[in-house]
Amino acid sequence: MKKNLIYLLFSAVLFCTALTACSEDELSATSVVRPSITEQNDFDRWLDRNYVQTYNIKFKYRFEDIESSMGYYLTPAKYEQSIAMAKLIRHMCLEVYDELTGSTEFIRNYFPKILYLVGSYAYKTNGSVVLGTAEAGAKITFYNLDNLVPKEVNAKTSYFKTTHHEFAHILNQTKPYPTDFTEISGPKYVQDQCFEIYKTEDQAQQDGFISRYASKSDGEDFVELISLYVNRTAEEWESMLKTAGSTGRATIEAKFEIVYNYMSNSWDIDLNKMREIVLRRAAEAPDLDFDSLDDETDAPENSGTNE
Ligand SMILES: [Zn+2]
Repeated sequence: MKKNLIYLLFSAVLFCTALTACSEDELSATSVVRPSITEQNDFDRWLDRNYVQTYNIKFKYRFEDIESSMGYYLTPAKYEQSIAMAKLIRHMCLEVYDELTGSTEFIRNYFPKILYLVGSYAYKTNGSVVLGTAEAGAKITFYNLDNLVPKEVNAKTSYFKTTHHEFAHILNQTKPYPTDFTEISGPKYVQDQCFEIYKTEDQAQQDGFISRYASKSDGEDFVELISLYVNRTAEEWESMLKTAGSTGRATIEAKFEIVYNYMSNSWDIDLNKMREIVLRRAAEAPDLDFDSLDDETDAPENSGTNE
């Protein structure tokens, strides 16, 4: 009898759940919490053509609490800054891979599906600043859009280095790198103390890390080697290795060889060719047309030549 009652109760619960699910479906059409329908502006239409249709990427510049970390006080990115950023990310990051691989498929297949812009910095409790975050390979958030000066960007501007850094994490998650890499600096990784133990980049380099952040873990080390290599000229890279001294240089070079071979063997990407493309595109970037939302005038070589 008791057993039957339990079964009865259980079916009642199931039934209620089913009912709730149905009624929720019906209610949703008039729900007061449904997202407000925003009217499409010219930028939305540009994004639809150049991000959604081309790459299947959603470029979110309107502020949505649901996309933001509630642990920070954040403000939205400005409209003009968002347009400039959309053009810069495309020119300095997405099209780099298009050019390397010969099609937009690489980005379509592997790049995060959501890019989200925030106007302000995000400060951590220890005072450090978050430049960008990547979540489960699905989304990259860019902070500090307020401080973007489109006409002054270069290969080292943090947003673009961050993009290559985060994208490299995704590539690593898709195809893991050899464990030989991890063994080189093995016990030296310092996790969250990277900025406390190494006060300067030079100190980290002398200890065999290309940057202070690279000393955090093998995963960060790997993608720092990629993102810093491609945004520096051969001379600048050499001068970092000089700073590292003989021990630091040997360690960095041993790790970089694994990184280079991994990118080449696993992804058919030659990091020397990638560097050439990144540097060329970064030099072109300040001359992009940041005002027009016409597709035809976006390419820098067209600026000033239209009749
Ligand atoms: Zn990282």
